[in-house]
Parts: sequence; structure tokens; C-alpha cells
Amino acid sequence: MADTHYQVLIIGGGTAGIMTAAQLKRKKHDLTIGLVEPSKDHWYQPAWTLVGAGTFDMGATRRDEADQIPQGVDWVQDYAETFQPEKDQVTLRSGKSITYDHLVVCPGIKLDIDAMPGLREALETDVVCSNYIDPEKTLRVLKNFKGGNAVFTQPATPIKCGGAPQKAVYLADEYLRKSGVRDKTKLVFATPGSVIFGVEPFRFALEDVVRKKQIILKTFYKPVRIDPVRKEIHFEWSKPGDNNCVINEEQGLQEKIEGQSTIVMPYDMLHLAPPQSAPDFVRNSPLAYAEGANKGWLEVDVNTLQHKRFPNIFGLGDAAALPTAKTGAAIRKQAPVVVANILHRIQNGALSTERYEGYSSCPLVTGYGKMLLAEFKYDNVRDSDPLLSRFFDTSKPLWSMWVLKKYVLPWLYWNRMMKGAM
Ligand SMILES: Cc1cc2nc3c(=O)[nH]c(=O)nc-3n(C[C@H](O)[C@H](O)[C@H](O)COP(=O)(O)OP(=O)(O)OC[C@H]3O[C@@H](n4cnc5c(N)ncnc54)[C@H](O)[C@@H]3O)c2cc1C
Repeated sequence: MADTHYQVLIIGGGTAGIMTAAQLKRKKHDLTIGLVEPSKDHWYQPAWTLVGAGTFDMGATRRDEADQIPQGVDWVQDYAETFQPEKDQVTLRSGKSITYDHLVVCPGIKLDIDAMPGLREALETDVVCSNYIDPEKTLRVLKNFKGGNAVFTQPATPIKCGGAPQKAVYLADEYLRKSGVRDKTKLVFATPGSVIFGVEPFRFALEDVVRKKQIILKTFYKPVRIDPVRKEIHFEWSKPGDNNCVINEEQGLQEKIEGQSTIVMPYDMLHLAPPQSAPDFVRNSPLAYAEGANKGWLEVDVNTLQHKRFPNIFGLGDAAALPTAKTGAAIRKQAPVVVANILHRIQNGALSTERYEGYSSCPLVTGYGKMLLAEFKYDNVRDSDPLLSRFFDTSKPLWSMWVLKKYVLPWLYWNRMMKGAM
């Protein structure tokens, strides 16, 4: 016997969970909704990039989760542990179980620190940092940096906000110019990809930024291991079908090649986006893909967000297997689809006509006071907001977009999105 039953049970009270709960309640106030969320804190993560560059207060990115739970929604402060979809039931860490008519799964993404040997130890040193883990430390590392190799990396796994690692390097460039050590610095951005950004025309604008800032762009560099004692990061050359890695000694980075395809780069400071994966309890559940490229992520239809095998289950946010960038901006377009589909199913047993077309956006901060707003959908097709595009050329770094990022979006997040109003 389950302990409680809800018409809608939501797993995860981050961006996706709160947005979905708030929109459902606004549209149908008598719905019984339970929301399982262990944390007492709710974080506005998009501002962590700015915290790492000393231009946003970390404290302002946190609010009490209790204040975000929409009125009339039951907050179950616990961890979801296992799913029993054949019984429409979720079991919690406390041992309690909850049944549902509809389930929404959105517990975010796991920072998989142990997937990279040496990373955990390296993070304990004074020169290795990550805006994903502790953006205030990024600022301390930048402050203490006296020159040498400043290395910024992108992992090969899916990550939340795929643009965040390069935003960190653009802001570091300006920070180091201001602190007077940029001319003693080799600033490196190393990515396993073949280009700086996958969507045109933003790619060209960003290539221009990289050139002007004299950032050393290393493509096909997949970070695999850190040696915190020797202060070296190991990359695997990731160019498909080509085992012969290339280093350019003239860049003066003191790189070495080991074996056929490992490049060892010394660092004086290192910023990482750590490898990331679906949360373990999702990955090991019947709701995840068991095989293939999406293994471990929620098996949902990419347009309806309905689970492919359990029609009363929906998934969205970072944990879902959707071939687009994992961002809060994407969730803003996903949540209304989940909400419409659940309400239609409750009313007449069928899905609504709402579809998610893969919209996501990446506010690429390219310096203090400059931002380029990359908006796109599935297949890397540009999808810029028509209204914004009438007034601004969002394919270029603009001061107006910086104002949007630093002031407007945080306000909209707390006051509109978390309230189900957009
Ligand atoms: C440095 C950085 C910069 C970013 N920049 C941007 C940006 O500029 N623009 C943008 O749109 N997005 C950005 N993002 C990404 C954005 O923050 C995420 O995509 C978004 O928060 C994902 O929402 P979510 O609800 O899927 O996950 P989250 O918001 O992470 O919430 C997941 C929730 O699930 C809970 N949970 C975990 N395990 C369990 C469990 N077992 N049971 C129940 N609940 C559980 C967690 O406690 C958490 O509250 C950035 C992220 C980072 C880290």
C-alpha cells in the first residue's frame, strides 16, 4: 500500500519541477500535486558564470526552496530512489512510497567528478576551479593568478549549458587584462569538438571573439585525466578517424605528446566543466534508455516529452534525452508542452497538439558588458526570437543582451517563471 496518492507527482524541484508545478496549478487549481525535492535551497545557476567573474553576488543566486513551492503543492522533502512504473509508484529514500496518475521526472544532471581520474584531488588545490561547482572559488583563483598557462576545458559528455565553459574563458580574458597579467598569460580553451560553437552564424561571431582576445583554441582535445601534483592535464586527441595528434610548439604551452594520442599540457590555473551524467537513480531505472547513445537518460519522445513506454510519465529538463542544449531556457519551452499534455490526458485521455521543437538558448557572455544570445532548435537550426531580432542583431555581442543576462533574466526567473507566469 502506498503512503500517498497524487494526480501529478513531480520528481525534482529545480527549474523544471517548479515551472511545471506552478503552470499546472495556475491552469487547474484543484489538481493534487506532490513535489519530491530533498534540498532546502533553490539555485539560479545561470548567474554562476557572472559570480565566477566577480560581477554577481552568489547569495543572490540562492533562495529557500520553501518559497518556490507553489501554493497548494505538497512538498515532499525526500529523495526519489526507485520507480515502479507498472504500479504507478515511486519509492523514496525514507522507504515511503507514493502513487500517481501522472508522473513528471526532472531531477537534473549529476556532476560526475569521479569520471575523470585526478579531478577530485585537483579541485582541492588552489589553482583548479569550476563555475559548475564553486564559482566563488573561480574568482579567488583568478585573483591569485600571476601568469602562465590558464587552461579552460569542455568535457566530452553532455553538460548543462554547453556554452558556460567558454563564457568563463571570455570573462577571464577581461579579468586578467584588468589585473595586469594578461600579457604574461597563455589563455587556452580546449574542447573535444571541432568548432567553438555548433550553430551558425553565432559560430563566426565567436570565432571572431576568440581571435580578438588571442585565446588559444584547441579543438579535438578531450580532457581525460589530471595530475594535480605535476599540475598537468591529459587530453585524448578526439579527431574522428585520425590518431595522430597535433601540437603547435610555437604557442609556447610546453605541451608533450605521450604515446600516439595523448597530449599533456601543464597548467598554472585550470577551469573545468566536470563530466556529467544522468542521476544514478534515473540511469539505473526502467525509465532510462538501456542501450545506445542515450543510455541512462530519460526515454522520452523529443516532441511530446511523453515517456516512450509509459504513457502517463513525462520527462523534461537536464535529465531528459533530448538532442538540444540542456538549459533553463529550453525548459521554458518544454514545461508548457508537458503541462498541456497532462491536462489534455486528464480531460480526454489524449495528448494535446503542443510540441517541443528543441528550442534552447545560450547567452554567451563575451566580456563585461557584452553578450551574444544564441537561440536555436533541433538540428542546430537558428531560432532567434522574432521580436528581439526586430530590434537587435543578436548574432553579435551587445550591451543590451548583457543587461538582459545580468538584470532582466534573474528577475524574470524568480518573479515570472517560478510563478508559472511564463
Ligand atoms: C555554470 C552554469 C551556467 C548556466 N548558464 C545557463 C544560462 O545562461 N542559461 C540557461 O538557460 N541555463 C543555464 N544553465 C543551466 C540551467 O541552470 C539548467 O539547465 C537548469 O537548471 C536545469 O533544470 P532542471 O530542473 O533540469 O535541473 P535543476 O535545476 O538542477 O534541478 C534539479 C533538482 O532535482 C533535485 N533532485 C536531485 N536528485 C533528486 C532525487 N533523487 N529526488 C528528488 N529530487 C532530486 C535537485 O535537488 C534539484 O533541485 C547553467 C548552469 C550552470 C551550472
